Formats: sequence, structure tokens, C-alpha cells
Amino acid sequence: MTNTVPPDAQERRAIKPVICYPVDTLPKPDMALYAHARANLLKTDEVLVPARDAATFHVPAGHFFRISSVEGPQVGDLNLWNADDLNERFYSGKTRALHGTHITKGQQMWSSFPYLRPMATIIHDTLDWYGIDDFGGSVHDVIGTRCDPYTHHLLKGGQYHHCCHSNLTRALAKELNMPLSQAESLVHDVLNVFMCTGFTRDTGQYFMKASPVRPGDYLEFVAEIDLLGALSACPGGDCSLEHSSDVAACYPLLVEVFAPSQEMLKGRAHNSPNGYDRSHGS
Ligand SMILES: [Zn+2]
Repeated sequence: MTNTVPPDAQERRAIKPVICYPVDTLPKPDMALYAHARANLLKTDEVLVPARDAATFHVPAGHFFRISSVEGPQVGDLNLWNADDLNERFYSGKTRALHGTHITKGQQMWSSFPYLRPMATIIHDTLDWYGIDDFGGSVHDVIGTRCDPYTHHLLKGGQYHHCCHSNLTRALAKELNMPLSQAESLVHDVLNVFMCTGFTRDTGQYFMKASPVRPGDYLEFVAEIDLLGALSACPGGDCSLEHSSDVAACYPLLVEVFAPSQEMLKGRAHNSPNGYDRSHGS
């Protein structure tokens, strides 16, 4: 410490925090309609994401998608784009500001500016029992960015090619038939599906611990717009030890896509882009 503690230090620290973005006025998804639709879903597609690799999938607006643990505890890094406009992509930071560090049933994945609208709503989470553990850890975080070869090189040197960032880049390049460099610029901060993370209380550092996920667990969403998704089965496996290595036990992840009834699709509210006029006061 290099500065003198002011006499009213304790008083200043004792001020109670206020929530930055109270969500009382946030439009709520129609969970009753979604729950009703869940009873009659028709599976239309499935993609098995190989361990230490990524794969893409498409989900039309109003359809459901489910990410499942199938063979062993495994964490997934999820990217979402508007299938018709790749500039609109998942905005992890604003989702965190609105919903908190980890998201679960009833909460939504929000898109980047200037769209800022729900891209997907979580409709079911088999890990909702976990809550917040004694270390401050919880599951499905929007605080981590994605494991990447640049940070790996910075901290450990070497060239590691199967980080989630590279896996997502390869999968997107293949899906869109574009060069890796172009695909890389579209890859963004993720939803860490099944990952158990938090911040240490003493140093405020980002931590991870073994995910509580087990085969059979899943996280299920409703697509609020036509989506292109990419999911990486993280090389950290359950992320109990390290996350950019070939040491961890890794397993595939299953993505399934389901169509609801036509009635449910008719009942959905229209999901327009954000209403701000973009004149920025000029
Ligand atoms: Zn990863």
C-alpha cells in the first residue's frame, strides 16, 4: 500500500451497493408458452461436437436447442450469431451486466449493439440446483472469455491449436466457407456452458473448479431469432485442472434441435432490434 488510509475509510467501505441494472422493467420471456411448447417437440437435427473440437448448428426462431453432456463431465464454449447478419452476435458483457455472472432458466443471451435484443432464452437447466457454492462458484458463466492460443502463448509459450477460440474459428470457417482470419474476427466471448467458475474473494481472480455436470445433464434454449451457433468442447474437459492442454479427460457434447408446434410459433411475440434511434445526441 502506498497511500495513507483516510480517516473515514471504513465509513466509505460500509456504503451498501446498489444493483446497476435492476431488471424489473426488462421485458420477460413468455415462459408459460415455452413450457407448454416443450411438451410437444419434434427433433429436427443433432450434432455431436467432438472432444477438443467445435461444430456449428442452425436453429430457426422459435425452435429449441439443447446442449447435453453425454459421455463424461465436459464444459462447452458457446457462440451465437444472427444467421442472417453475422454482425449481430452474443454480447457476454451486457448479458452479465443484466443477469449476473452466471445464467440459468428464465434468463436470456443478449446480442451486441446496436441490436441488443434476446438471442436465446434458457428454458431448462438440470444444474439449477447448484446455486452458488461456498467459494462463490456457480455454473454457466458469462465472465470467462474463452480459452485461446494467445493468452496461452503469453503465459506458457508454445503453439496450442485446440483452444476453444481456435476450435470455434475452424468450425465457423468451415461452415461459412471463409478464410480462418475472417472467421476469427467473428468469434466472440462465450457462454461457458456447464463451467463452474467465480472470483476469489481475497484477490478477485477468475477461478474455475471441476464442473458438477454429469452425463444426462443439459441446458436447453429457445432461439429468439434465427441462429447460427458454434459450440466447442473445451480442451479443459471438466475444467478441474487446466484448460489449454491435452492432459485433461475430454468428452463430446451433444447439440439437439427441436421444432415446436405451429401454434407455439404463432403465439410468440415479435422480437425487434433495440429501439434506440442511434442519433447519439447529434
Ligand atoms: Zn475452452
